Amino acid sequence: MSNTDRIPVFDGHNDTLLRLMEDATGEAERRFFEGGAGGHIDMALAREGGLAGGLFAVFPPSHMDASLSDAMRVPPYSLPFPHTPSLAEARETTLRMVAIFLRLERASKGAFAICRTAGDIEAAMIAGRFAAVLHIEGAEAIDADLDALDVLHAAGLRSVGPLWSRPNHFGHGVPMRFPSSPDTGPGLTDAGKRLVQRCNELRILVDLSHLNEKGFDDVAALTDAPLVATHCNAHAVTPHSRNLTDRQLDVIRATGGLVGLNFATAFLGDGGMDETIGLDPMLRHLDHLLKHLGEDGVALGSDFDGATIPAAIGTAAGLPRLLEAMAAAGYGRDLVERIAWRNWLSVLRRTWGS
Ligand SMILES: [Zn+2]
Repeated sequence: MSNTDRIPVFDGHNDTLLRLMEDATGEAERRFFEGGAGGHIDMALAREGGLAGGLFAVFPPSHMDASLSDAMRVPPYSLPFPHTPSLAEARETTLRMVAIFLRLERASKGAFAICRTAGDIEAAMIAGRFAAVLHIEGAEAIDADLDALDVLHAAGLRSVGPLWSRPNHFGHGVPMRFPSSPDTGPGLTDAGKRLVQRCNELRILVDLSHLNEKGFDDVAALTDAPLVATHCNAHAVTPHSRNLTDRQLDVIRATGGLVGLNFATAFLGDGGMDETIGLDPMLRHLDHLLKHLGEDGVALGSDFDGATIPAAIGTAAGLPRLLEAMAAAGYGRDLVERIAWRNWLSVLRRTWGS
């Protein structure tokens, strides 16, 4: 028995709802429970790897030209912004993914629980139910008057990333660039600032992932909640536009906030998409994040089902290998538990208020 046995993982980011929506066979949603339909997360893989829950992103797709994602295989690169979905397009795909999320709970016979409070997550984890939280990545479906925010909140939405790597009516995301500073453009629009304030009032988490540096500073100036980047890495280790500078990490720490380690090879290694990079780059990022954020400020944000991840992890079933690598690097069981799930629970409780 290794000393990381039976440590559960609560994960800050997956794109499983997009995978289920775009599945051409029409079988993936049903097979989410029995497994074997491909992808990084289903209930069988989650059980095998100790994945106990996480944030499920609703991401209105951009339909990037394949030549653009191919360009990311060969750094350096500087990709133009992809297409931003219109309000109507984003509403259609957002509602389809929220509907899949609601149906998963209904079809699960209690195995998949939509969680709206930290207490819900804790209760689900104790009962062995999968603890699922609804998140939006790219808020194009939310109108500038924020009516849709109230409706989505009532449907269970508890976390919003206003931007993906494209501009919208709330601000400008970072373009995919390597190497690049995250300071790539203007900050939040007035509508973006209202969105952050309204999320604060509703106690919805505001995710800093994909914001450029000026947008990050705008959120930091507006919010009274802990600052959270659900799936980002350290710019000092991998100088990608998507990663956070030491100054940004220090700002997050000052609020009692958190960063979830992103498993995407593009943000871990040399900017490319090399699946064979192994686990060492993940440890290098964790070490740097711990140095700047402290032991309470580091967690996981896998990007499962949304990115090329190290083959050494493969799928959710491979999570124990990451925890074992942390133990082998000298992290004690208490620190591994904080990174694996306790820090997420703490920051969500402080953000949501219950
Ligand atoms: Zn993302």
